[in-house]
Amino acid sequence: MRDDFDAEAVVAAARAGDARSLGRLVSLVENGSAALRPVMRAVTPYTGHARVIGLTGSPGVGKSTVTSELVRSYRAVGLRVGVLAVDPTSPFSGGALLGDRVRMQDHATDQGVFIRSMASRGHLGGLAWSAPQALRILDAAGFDVICVETVGVGQAEVEIASLADSTLVILAPGMGDSIQAAKAGILEIADIFVVNKSDRPGAQEVVRDLRNMIAMARYEEGSWKPPIVSVSAATGDGIDELIARLDAHWTWLGESGEREQRRVARAREEISAIAVADIRRRLGVLPGESRLDDLAGLVAAGKLDPYSAADDLVAG
Ligand code: GDP
Repeated sequence: MRDDFDAEAVVAAARAGDARSLGRLVSLVENGSAALRPVMRAVTPYTGHARVIGLTGSPGVGKSTVTSELVRSYRAVGLRVGVLAVDPTSPFSGGALLGDRVRMQDHATDQGVFIRSMASRGHLGGLAWSAPQALRILDAAGFDVICVETVGVGQAEVEIASLADSTLVILAPGMGDSIQAAKAGILEIADIFVVNKSDRPGAQEVVRDLRNMIAMARYEEGSWKPPIVSVSAATGDGIDELIARLDAHWTWLGESGEREQRRVARAREEISAIAVADIRRRLGVLPGESRLDDLAGLVAAGKLDPYSAADDLVAG
């Protein structure tokens, strides 16, 4: 942390629409900076407004293209939209996920849109630590809708779903993984299934497989049953219906009390991730932190018992 870093001032600038300041704040998250503590304190009064939409699916299904269409639709009604692309598979690919997406460039000069690829550069908390904090910053900066895009891979997929108010699981024909590879796990995380590339052969089969899968699942009364929306992000077909389904889900979240529950669950995970990262840091897992080494030396030499050493470590 630089001594001259003024969290309040940078947050105020980001809230006033300065994209550079906003970018700087997100970089603090990426780098696991100690400056985040005052930043999070400064942003907290302004949070709780944004609607978070998670998009997940295998590489190539059209996540970026669908995101771009959602951005277009929300911008058309004057909403400010943030896009956060997180790549859990590679901690070093920051920038690569969206940078080469031509369609996303359509929005690059729009001041009402903020697009950022984020890598969690190997700091201890990973995605569970960084993504909620980045969301919090975008939320405080006044974005009405935040799209969080991630490659659907196991745990990360679930983590992203736990961050979002509404999670879109995107599938496409010809990906070789329609339902079999996607497994039942996607049923639990999907609020809406999006079958993209409906202009391609095989899209109907993907819809049918999904329908069968949903038919076999049990839904409690009053719970949300995920609809299937066919879209072609390339042509824009079906995007209006997708927006309508998202609105319906948002309304359901509010009426059922689920929105509040999800937000509390999200905060729990956020707090845990910060606490666990902090404990790990104290444990000396990070290079250059030798407290654990010192204690290990004492225990190995028979000068200290391991419980006392562990207590010492946790007490910090
Ligand atoms: P991501 O890796 O999931 O983000 O996928 P992209 O959005 O980058 O899309 C992968 C490829 O599929 C690109 O070449 C897109 O142009 C193409 N694509 C996306 N949506 C559609 C669609 O609706 N129809 C067709 N035919 N191609 C699409």
